[in-house]
Amino acid sequence: MRQAWLRKRLELEKMMGADVLPRAQGVEAELGTLEEEVRRCQRCRLYERRTQTVFARGNPRAALMFIGEAPGQEEDRQGLPFVGPAGKLLDKMIFAMGLRPDDVYIGNIIKSRPPENREPRPDEIAACFPFLERQIELVRPHIICTLGRPAANALLGTSLSMGDLRGKWHSYRGIAVLPTYHPAYLLRSPGQKKQAWEDLKKVIFALAEGPPEPAALL
Ligand code: SF4
Repeated sequence: MRQAWLRKRLELEKMMGADVLPRAQGVEAELGTLEEEVRRCQRCRLYERRTQTVFARGNPRAALMFIGEAPGQEEDRQGLPFVGPAGKLLDKMIFAMGLRPDDVYIGNIIKSRPPENREPRPDEIAACFPFLERQIELVRPHIICTLGRPAANALLGTSLSMGDLRGKWHSYRGIAVLPTYHPAYLLRSPGQKKQAWEDLKKVIFALAEGPPEPAALL
């Protein structure tokens, strides 16, 4: 089942006709330029030990964007986000939502792997965040689903716990944001999968019916 709201968006874009393709091509070109800039980036010391940067995967015109924390070992090796065991679980979650991984856009707050998979530090997040800001500006998702506390905290500029954040709609510059658990956490704590699925059902509903009104966002 493809989501009705996604279909509506594509129909609307088709009606707009000639403007759509040039914009899509423009977005892809700008994302390509940004990815090149990230590849050369030395704004924080994480560049010293990375194998390569990890920019994004998926559809640059997606209505739904997933944002995680930082690349892990497998992502650092392949240069793509969410390609290790946690990525495989994320793909399963996406299929369970009635979507395909190519229907969504997937990225991270940080583009270079922190050593030993430690949490990114505030100075590293601050250095890297402008790249994510630009990705969001270009992709223009209608809904963002953050994965794990560090991603939600960084995007929403808060230090609230996952318990306080997850399952509720928040706002990033007027875009509806739903924080849920990181799939790596779900692999360690499979008992929480039910709660994560409750969160994803809210995203499915919002994709079908449209995101919550801005006034309803925290
Ligand atoms: S984490 Fe971001 S800011 Fe730091 S070196 Fe990598 S791309 Fe640059």
